[in-house]
Amino acid sequence: MRSPLMTEQNAVTQTTDLGSESNSSTPVQKVDLLGMDRQAMEAFFKSIGEKPFRAGQVMKWIHQFGVSDFDEMTNLSKALRENLKSVATVRTPKIVAEQLSEDGTIKWLLEVDNKNSIETVFIPEKNRGTLCISSQVGCALDCSFCSTGKQGFNRNLENWEIIAQMWVANKALGCLPKEERRITNVVFMGMGEPLLNVKHTFPAARILMDDFAYGLSKRRVTISTAGVVPAIDMIKAEVDVSLAISLHAPNNELRNILVPINEKYPLELLMPSLHRFVEGGHSKKHVTVEYVMIDHINDRIEHAHQLVELLGDLPCKVNLIPFNPFPNTDYKRSSNNAIHRFRDVLENGGLNVTVRKTRGDDIDAACGQLAGKVKDRTKRTLHHVEMNLKQKTN
Ligand code: SAH
Repeated sequence: MRSPLMTEQNAVTQTTDLGSESNSSTPVQKVDLLGMDRQAMEAFFKSIGEKPFRAGQVMKWIHQFGVSDFDEMTNLSKALRENLKSVATVRTPKIVAEQLSEDGTIKWLLEVDNKNSIETVFIPEKNRGTLCISSQVGCALDCSFCSTGKQGFNRNLENWEIIAQMWVANKALGCLPKEERRITNVVFMGMGEPLLNVKHTFPAARILMDDFAYGLSKRRVTISTAGVVPAIDMIKAEVDVSLAISLHAPNNELRNILVPINEKYPLELLMPSLHRFVEGGHSKKHVTVEYVMIDHINDRIEHAHQLVELLGDLPCKVNLIPFNPFPNTDYKRSSNNAIHRFRDVLENGGLNVTVRKTRGDDIDAACGQLAGKVKDRTKRTLHHVEMNLKQKTN
């Protein structure tokens, strides 16, 4: 069941209380509507004496028409619009840069506060358009092959900052309702570890899937995780999204080096959690297994055999990702030969495998290259990660 913490209800109540206690000279803290899922929005309208159906109306204006000005919400009465202006707001972030790759990939740098910015990437393909969104400013996990981790960690993004990436991208791509929908898929594969920020990523995912907002199906919203086991176990009850696991190594020894959170949640805990995720789902339910191909590190034939064994009968699709370089890394991308040999072993072992095409690397928009602007507040030790885990998953 969803905990009350997962909604904006507390914020609403607090704001309403603030409002009733304040006199005319006290500024009222306004409630932000951009990041509210339907349940939170309905609670908000109830708290201001309105019918819950207003939630759907306002969500449509914000998410489907890209409207942030209450005056433009013409099916609301004038009185309600005035009331909303006094108690609520639709906060949106500033786009500080937009870069277009030769292959059509677009990267936006969004300022989320005066010290930090995050990156969001749109990847157009023939029959779909994928938006890759960030969930944190920086990342605390420090995976050794990932540029985001090298920037350090600053803070979790809030609901509105996560969903704002979709809001901004839809607007920038000019795909408001009358236009053809260009963003067909959303993946939480930008900066950060979404499952260390479930309080904000789950409501944002619910908004992505809500018919009054973006209406994406569960197959088209994917949370990617380095393996936060207790949070993997929360997904099914909270939001019915797809799951990708950043595996990258077939044994604990290697995975501890590449994905250090493996020390906390080793494969013997991680693998059963993936099976639990798929269990009881529809017949096509599976996990996407991501495996970055790094030259002479994790790309040997014996690693491929170990991977076949490890994955066993887990319903999954394996995605091999050629390593994308970034400044000051010693790692190199596996050769095409090595990648194809690796793929062949997996396929002979009965696995469904694709090799990811690198996109947007000329603008540093490829997997693992997102850096944003992060004012690091941590020493990025495992101790910090553990503290963070305790806070977020308790
Ligand atoms: N923290 C989450 C989401 C962010 S990473 C996770 O770990 O899944 C998104 C994907 O990009 C992951 O599969 C990650 O392992 C991969 N990635 C990171 N750095 C990379 C690099 N340098 N080259 C290729 N893929 C990379």
